[in-house]
Amino acid sequence: MKSFFGKSVYKGIVLGPVVVLKQNDFQVKRKKIEDADAEIARLEQAGNQAKEQLQRLYDKALKEVGEASAAIFEVHQMMLEDEDYLDAIHNLIQTEGVNAEYAVAVTGDNFSEMFASMDDEYMKARAADVKDISNRLIRVLSGEEEVDFRSMTPSVIVADDLSPSETVQMDKEKILAFVTVHGSTNSHTAILARMMNIPALIGVPMDLDEIQTGMRAVVDGFDGKVTFEPDEELCNQTLHRMEKEKEKLQLLQTLKGKENITADGRKINIYANIGSVGDVGYVLENDAGGIGLFRSEFLYLGKSDFPTEEEQFLAYKQVLQTMAGKKVIIRTLDIGADKQVDYFNLGQEDNPAMGYRAIRICLKQPEIFKTQLRALLRAAVFGNLSIMYPMIISTEEVTRIYEIVDEVKKELEAEQIPYKVPEQGIMIETPAAVMISDELAEMVDFFSIGTNDLTQYTLAIDRQNAKLDDFYNPHHKAILKMIQMVTDNAHKHGKWVGICGELGADLELTEQFVRMGIDELSVSPSMVLRLRKVIREMKCD
Ligand code: PEP
Ligand code: MG
Repeated sequence: MKSFFGKSVYKGIVLGPVVVLKQNDFQVKRKKIEDADAEIARLEQAGNQAKEQLQRLYDKALKEVGEASAAIFEVHQMMLEDEDYLDAIHNLIQTEGVNAEYAVAVTGDNFSEMFASMDDEYMKARAADVKDISNRLIRVLSGEEEVDFRSMTPSVIVADDLSPSETVQMDKEKILAFVTVHGSTNSHTAILARMMNIPALIGVPMDLDEIQTGMRAVVDGFDGKVTFEPDEELCNQTLHRMEKEKEKLQLLQTLKGKENITADGRKINIYANIGSVGDVGYVLENDAGGIGLFRSEFLYLGKSDFPTEEEQFLAYKQVLQTMAGKKVIIRTLDIGADKQVDYFNLGQEDNPAMGYRAIRICLKQPEIFKTQLRALLRAAVFGNLSIMYPMIISTEEVTRIYEIVDEVKKELEAEQIPYKVPEQGIMIETPAAVMISDELAEMVDFFSIGTNDLTQYTLAIDRQNAKLDDFYNPHHKAILKMIQMVTDNAHKHGKWVGICGELGADLELTEQFVRMGIDELSVSPSMVLRLRKVIREMKCD
């Protein structure tokens, strides 16, 4: 039995088997080999194994998501047989006498850089595929098992760190908890853990080489503690506490179908935040009044190419239809900063949080933006959609957005494709937007305050930097004053205002938000009923 402490991201408790994810931290080492032919034979065998894995993935994807999405695995199989690629690897092994892993890594980097520098958009996108197949080959060569989430039993995921794109690809039904060595409490991975309603610990000083898949662990999000190979007494205590937690949650269920209304009659909208179509189930299960933030960029993560207009349209339409007339606020893509996607080729930045991200990418590369807007305007016909734009800093940006929306509208009209221009609002998540919220309120239909970034930019604290977690204080007076200012300016122009950052779920502040005049709180689905309870028990005056 061995325990470690970390920072808790979500309070919950669980006992389960461990799966250690090590994909991220394999450092490919250069080794001298004696027998080049034997190394090439080893490579060939790994290639066959990788192709078999891809065939299995193709068969599964074909059954579950259809031919168009499965095709990528076929492309990867073909790439593994590409003569230029294989010749380059063989050459390195033979002429430099290096191990296959190293030869694959170097060739993968070279080829992917070559693709990335091409003008043709399709060829550019292949850069990520080459990296992908090279990583697969290296994994097989180094004998690392691929985690198959579909056949896995529900487990505690232990890793060095997890990126949002890795987290989003996981089968949520199979994850009991996250425990990572690195990570920050305000990162998107932490947000995902909250949304999934599972205990998660970050910054846990454990040695991953000492932890093996198959061990058992207790993850206690209340105490911020993980215990590997717990003894019988701790297992029994944990099972008892899990039962108690379940009972508490069941009590909250009695609030389903009830209004979010204070004891003296003030009503508030409580919506939910989601990251994928699959999350809509959580929204309905927790009886949220709508979706206040659909982080649409998650449709772009964990893929090797841009989602097409049709793919996006189908995803948005499905969410709208499932929500059956309830409000669905879809935020246009907020890529950049910690949400990196290879095929965007954003390049290295010294300061990505203050860099090329979100609406800036959309305005600089309107072809990407237009594809998403076309999908949104088309989907708007099928439900109660609102579009929301992230990272706004000026009125000029809003004017330019409207011009692009107008172009898209005209294109759809000319093509006789049914569409609707829905309500359009912006996120207030920069101090600049707060300071000009009076002017912005005249231009838009609503505001949604993104307190995660607003705190980051106001307090000059990188939300990804775990060292600064103690300084990251969204309760700071400056933030609360800003929320009041934005609310007053929105109301002055007859517009509604909500909070969709994590602070919206902070039950210590709920009463203050209601008094400030906030009209909507959008929180992770698991917080909806807890918030309803607090609101129903409070009085405004
Ligand atoms: C925010 O910044 O508060 C927000 C809701 O957006 P994200 O966390 O996705 O940056
Ligand atoms: Mg944000």
